[in-house]
Amino acid sequence: MSELKEWEFYKTLLETTNAIPWQINWDTKEFSYIGPQIESLLGWPQDSWKSAQDWIDRIHPDDRDKTVGMCIQLSDDGTDHEADYRALTQDGGYVWIRDVVHVIRENDKTIAIIGFMFDISERKSMELELEELNKKNQALLLQDPLTQVANRKALNERIEFEFKRAERNKRPLSILFIDIDHFKKYNDDFGHLQGDQCLIAVAQLLKNQFSRAYDFVARFGGEEFVVILPETTLEDAVSSAERFRKAVAHLTIPNLMASQHADITVSIGVNTHGAGQNYLNVSSFLQSADQLLYQAKAEGRNQVRFLS
Ligand code: GH3
Ligand code: MG
Ligand code: MG
Repeated sequence: MSELKEWEFYKTLLETTNAIPWQINWDTKEFSYIGPQIESLLGWPQDSWKSAQDWIDRIHPDDRDKTVGMCIQLSDDGTDHEADYRALTQDGGYVWIRDVVHVIRENDKTIAIIGFMFDISERKSMELELEELNKKNQALLLQDPLTQVANRKALNERIEFEFKRAERNKRPLSILFIDIDHFKKYNDDFGHLQGDQCLIAVAQLLKNQFSRAYDFVARFGGEEFVVILPETTLEDAVSSAERFRKAVAHLTIPNLMASQHADITVSIGVNTHGAGQNYLNVSSFLQSADQLLYQAKAEGRNQVRFLS
């Protein structure tokens, strides 16, 4: 015999590829065939795949209902389909499988389904990694890279949200507009890199001092920061602004040499929406806080200003 007979040729081809061929009789829901390669992929012996139930039992519980439901419906309808799911291995692990299914019909009735199982675990783990990466990038888009607090874009989104929430719940909403005093001189005296260290230290102090669940700290730009304090009265916002202003004066800034002396101070405008003062929209609310900050600067810096 010089070469394989036709049936031997097909059988050899099917049983030596990486994809695992199978057939289920749709009347009895029994496997009439599954390739021997299944054992090296999942560990379960070839003859342990008797009925469709064996297949169902070996699908990850989180994927089971969706996969089985879809497969039964499309097989009954006579529609070829694919399903990705995690299959249980004999040693208790899971392998991502893509099942590609072809429906065999006779007189408008499904008599069997046949298909191939592909091992897609490598592709799947890359997909999951990519998803994680995308999530991380999404988060990075909203974060200031230098100080690791929220950036301007995140601030805009959050303040719109909190403004609406305050209106709806008729609760006060406070903001702090903070600007480092004479920061240009700080940069001139100590250099830009040291200036960056100062911004990082101020941001860190803000995060430490405003750490309730809804408090939100953002870098507005340059040496300016905004803190959103939901559910906070003007009185409470002013006292926490004062506390922060004093804390800045005691701030130790990394990398500053002992011989160097730098007094960092901040000016703060505090504004509250609701309870007396009501603003038409977010931009007039912010603008008013910015004006109060400007007043604090004009009146000598290192102070907190608010509408009394
Ligand atoms: P004032 O008390 O009126 O606020 O004076 P100021 O010098 O702080 O204000 P001005 O707006 O004149 O200067 C802000 C400075 O902040 C100028 C700019 O170089 C510096 N700055 C802005 N962003 C950064 C940054 O990312 N890193 C560093 N090192 N400096 C920055
Ligand atoms: Mg400024
Ligand atoms: Mg400044």
